[in-house]
Amino acid sequence: MSEEKSLNFIEEIIEADLASGKYQTILTRFPPEPNGYLHIGHAKSICLNFGLGLKYGGKTNLRFDDTNPVKEDTEYVDSIKEDVQWLGFNWQNELYASDYFSQLYLLAVDLIKKGLAYVDDLSAEEIATLKGTPTVPGMDSPNRNRTTEENLQLFADMKAGKYTDGEKVLRAKIDMAAPNMHLRDPLLYRIKHAHHHRTGNAWCIYPMYDFAHGQSDSIEKITHSICTLEFIPHRELYDWLIEKLEIFPSQQYEFARLNMTYTVMSKRKLLQLVTEGHVQGWDDPRMPTISGMRRRGFTAESIRNFCDKIGVARRENMIDFSLLEFCLREDLNKSALRVMGVLDPVKLIITNYQDGQTEELVSENGPDDAYGTRIVPFSKTLWVEREDFMEEAAKKWFRLAPGARVRLKSAYIVQCDGFTKDEDGIVTEIYCSYLPETKSGNDTSGISVKGTIHWVSAEHALPAEVRLYERLFKVEDPSNEERDFKEYINKDSLKVIGNAWVEPSLLEGTVTARYQFLRKGYFCFDKVSTPEKLVFNRTVTLKDAWSKEVKKY
Ligand code: ATP
Ligand code: MG
Repeated sequence: MSEEKSLNFIEEIIEADLASGKYQTILTRFPPEPNGYLHIGHAKSICLNFGLGLKYGGKTNLRFDDTNPVKEDTEYVDSIKEDVQWLGFNWQNELYASDYFSQLYLLAVDLIKKGLAYVDDLSAEEIATLKGTPTVPGMDSPNRNRTTEENLQLFADMKAGKYTDGEKVLRAKIDMAAPNMHLRDPLLYRIKHAHHHRTGNAWCIYPMYDFAHGQSDSIEKITHSICTLEFIPHRELYDWLIEKLEIFPSQQYEFARLNMTYTVMSKRKLLQLVTEGHVQGWDDPRMPTISGMRRRGFTAESIRNFCDKIGVARRENMIDFSLLEFCLREDLNKSALRVMGVLDPVKLIITNYQDGQTEELVSENGPDDAYGTRIVPFSKTLWVEREDFMEEAAKKWFRLAPGARVRLKSAYIVQCDGFTKDEDGIVTEIYCSYLPETKSGNDTSGISVKGTIHWVSAEHALPAEVRLYERLFKVEDPSNEERDFKEYINKDSLKVIGNAWVEPSLLEGTVTARYQFLRKGYFCFDKVSTPEKLVFNRTVTLKDAWSKEVKKY
């Protein structure tokens, strides 16, 4: 975070709270529900919550909001922990709302004793009907005036398993005519005879979000409880519960969630993509999940920078997917090792180069000396990119064409003398002669050419599979509700190239390394890659691939 940057509204609040002595130190939390994998929207919340903890010398808890037994799973818990750590953050405590079930139960009992909660027998439909509408006040449930003793007994019976799902609920007794619908005697507990991923069958009543969340914040003494804008109407209830229960006064603040073009970010929709086979799993490299982005080759730093750039606002907006790609390129440009790989190969034969000869050429690994160099073998027969050859050179064509000269990156200038085609008119071989005095780093010729192309030595190159990705959706806002979001899926979002060739240095490559295949984009090894079968993901293309790259070398 740069120092000159102005404070966002939450930082302003925190600085005021620290200055006034309201708090000596701050405690934030990131509260995921373990019912899916984290996505880039969660990354924003993670960077914000952990970032504030770090910036103000406070702490941040990782709290699993696991109060809905049906949708939650330890698989999700594990993936969430991995993702937060990978993003570069350490939590103060790993906590679970389910660990507070006993405490929450006692708080509910306390509320009943204060005459502020009651057990209701109405069905969900009946409760909804009596609730009224924003313009029509609701009506009291016939059970609203049960005695405290009766309520305590019924609530204990709910806990003891005497009732079936939905038979009874515990409600706060607030105001059925409140302008804020959330205050019209909201549900606090429901009966659910379901196995919980951590508490097993110990409980058959589970707290509702509104009862669990704020009280968990309070139990942990969270100072600034940050959530997204849709929780604004919940805030009054959040404050009411804390006030009536006389517990630690955590405070809720809301910011705009991240929305991004060309993707979806609801866990329900992402789950559908996975279960219906539109993608190959939560970590499919096209997914906006943190695991998908990691597999695709995103760096944690680029995601953190992105979250920093988009900032924290109080109004909803839509962020352009290309801003994320911009942050990614910016980081990869610094961190990626330059290598050569040919994705659509055609043979180039250097007719005046000796059969069987190999030269070990030196090539730079990066944009400056700090990256060092590596050896790239050169020989008579090379693979070059099919698109780098034209049978008849167009205007301003600076690559291969009969009679044209081009530099082979880190090697020699070659002149194209001819080519062969098969019956279908496909070019099969390109013939060149090289100019020995033009060797890179030792060029004494004074000859200059406008184009430089990449290549690999056919005899030394390694076969590789390369996976290229496009956006998963064809429209900017697939959640526009005009149609089912799945109708907007881009069926061509994955292209698999089975016959690519890469330079031999990649055999020593590491999973965490990022590569720039010269002129072709940024790549990383996919998780299925083995030394026997190399598999790469293209993380992102190079912007202005040709013009920019040529200038650099
Ligand atoms: P979804 O709507 O995708 O199901 P959620 O909000 O239910 O997500 P949680 O696990 O409850 O998912 O989210 C954990 C935290 O991350 C919450 O504080 C939530 O506000 C925040 N969060 C979720 N989505 C976004 C987003 N798109 N932008 C910023 N923060 C988000
Ligand atoms: Mg949520």
